[in-house]
Amino acid sequence: MQFELTDEERAFQDAVRRFGDRVLRPNERRIDGQGRIPDEVIAGMAELGLLAMPVPSEYGGMGASAVLTELAAEEVGRGDSSMATAVFFLLEAGWGRIFARYGTEEAKREVLPAVCRGRAFLGIATTEPTGGSDLAHLRTTSRKSADGFTVRGEKAFLSGVEEARRMGGGHLTLTRAEEGGFRFLYVPTNGPGRSTQRFENMGRMGISTGAITYTDAPVPAHYLIGADGEGFGRAMEGFTVARTFVSAACVGAAERALETGMRHIKERTVFGRPLGKFEGIQFELADLYAQLEAVKWQCRRAAWLIDTYLDRGGAAQRSEIERTVAAVKLTAPPLAFECVKRVMMWFGAAGYTKDVGLELGLRGVTSYLVGAEGGLNVMRMILGRELLGREFLPYK
Ligand SMILES: Cc1cc2nc3c(=O)[nH]c(=O)nc-3n(C[C@H](O)[C@H](O)[C@H](O)COP(=O)(O)OP(=O)(O)OC[C@H]3O[C@@H](n4cnc5c(N)ncnc54)[C@H](O)[C@@H]3O)c2cc1C
Repeated sequence: MQFELTDEERAFQDAVRRFGDRVLRPNERRIDGQGRIPDEVIAGMAELGLLAMPVPSEYGGMGASAVLTELAAEEVGRGDSSMATAVFFLLEAGWGRIFARYGTEEAKREVLPAVCRGRAFLGIATTEPTGGSDLAHLRTTSRKSADGFTVRGEKAFLSGVEEARRMGGGHLTLTRAEEGGFRFLYVPTNGPGRSTQRFENMGRMGISTGAITYTDAPVPAHYLIGADGEGFGRAMEGFTVARTFVSAACVGAAERALETGMRHIKERTVFGRPLGKFEGIQFELADLYAQLEAVKWQCRRAAWLIDTYLDRGGAAQRSEIERTVAAVKLTAPPLAFECVKRVMMWFGAAGYTKDVGLELGLRGVTSYLVGAEGGLNVMRMILGRELLGREFLPYK
């Protein structure tokens, strides 16, 4: 067992933390207020290699391991606690990895360099107005055409719809193939047969959420991701990776909240002594810290398992990956929410103000409680399936 980060990992972690301190924190209120991540922030992320970082260098990325990406996700979540930048980061990291592994050579050369330079957005489109948990029953269809595919249906609650329109780019889109099975396609957002709608969210305002309607939208043949008919497995693989990075971003946001809280309870004096001297507060900090350390290391282990076994492990290792990732996605968002909420209470009335800024984190982290990258009960279902067997899935 080796828990020490390598020199390279430590150096990159430090660099991303500095970027978080110098660029993300000073901009997070602006990101939230103006409803988009400023171009110079995205350019800074690109310069540091943070955009779609698992993509191999021949397509513009840095070929980062899941562990290195996880470390970066922690720092991005710590830097912009609204989570908008973290979402931008982790979608491109998780789905860029899938694109690079299963996309055609032509599509990778065409799309990925622009994504890695911050000139195009890459996201995921699985959820539909009729639901996001029960993906086996999704309704958006695709069929073969003379020069590729046509897509018909509607996807909803997609992150980055406006970004993909504005910057160019699109979403890896899971469809039901009329010829049988599931087809995973890269669908650029701009083009004939697409219309978009933006939803008004309560948090992570710097990245849009919206819907795309496809009315016989043409998609070139070379935008097929993976083998035709086997798109479901590719999408699930992407979720396994992306959920690890989501959890890492939650860890970063939670650590930042606790650091803010610790500074406060050392300084704030009530009843003649610092708040931190009271057991009621100190023990709360201890409990949160203990839980957070456990989740952080479980999250890093999930990334390590992905690097070590996702491609070459047998059934036992794949099950271990599924269990570990589901467990961190089940625990990291609620714990981050709890950390931010508790620290808010340590601040008393000031915690409720925008000046202290904890509300940004509370609104941002909530997106991962309600469902983004899979609801908490879906994580429980995965754990139930892996612990008890597939026959215990509720819909079997
Ligand atoms: C801010 C935000 C950004 C998002 N970005 C994207 C994106 O980029 N791309 C994308 O495709 N989707 C995205 N989503 C959608 C997300 O993937 C879905 O919210 C999620 O999959 C849950 O689907 P749903 O919202 O339709 O809820 P439903 O599937 O209707 O589920 C509702 C609730 O019931 C629970 N539940 C479901 N099944 C069961 C069961 N069998 N037993 C008990 N409980 C159950 C769920 O956990 C959930 O809490 C985003 C969501 C949010 C909030």
